[in-house]
Amino acid sequence: MDRNALLALIVGCVVTGWMLQPVVAGRGKDDGDGTASLTEQEEADLLFMREEEKLARDVYIAFHALWGTPVFENISRSEQRHTDSVLALLDRYGLIDPVDEHGVGEFENQELQELYDELVADGEVSELAALFVGALIEEVDIEDILIAMESTEKRDIHNVYANLLAGSENHLVAFVGNIEQRIDGDYEAQYIAQDAVDAILSGN
Ligand code: MN
Ligand code: MN
Repeated sequence: MDRNALLALIVGCVVTGWMLQPVVAGRGKDDGDGTASLTEQEEADLLFMREEEKLARDVYIAFHALWGTPVFENISRSEQRHTDSVLALLDRYGLIDPVDEHGVGEFENQELQELYDELVADGEVSELAALFVGALIEEVDIEDILIAMESTEKRDIHNVYANLLAGSENHLVAFVGNIEQRIDGDYEAQYIAQDAVDAILSGN
């Protein structure tokens, strides 16, 4: 190899390295619209939340078809807006939508797929059982959203999660109201602490 060829090789490597560096290091970096990079946790949470909100929507669609209870139809519409609001974040941060072509009751995340199947089976027993499943979903969502909120300092993501949380609290109140019309006594918490449920039900 003569001197010029060696020099060309060195220059080539330096230039290639310099060109590749922003591609490698730039994954998730500021993409020009002011959004800073997502942490792995933020990314995982957004992808999960997109499907978790869809799961709620899909379960309530199934229960409304089964039982015709108005609360399921009303809340499934709210869950559509919730999952859409997470999709807007996926788009903003350049993440691939896990929902893609999946229809009602179909999930990319296999844990959510199994959970969906179990929850729908549980709610097929009776209308009351379906309402309890609805309340359970909301309790789980509340816990998951609170954890995700603690894992991000990005205001846009935080705002969407805060909106999902307020929605879940309203949904829990609605499901508990429907349950307590059908049972003697008070609703008992199924997943989060009874104190937390009581605070939500009393509006605190
Ligand atoms: Mn929701
Ligand atoms: Mn909900």
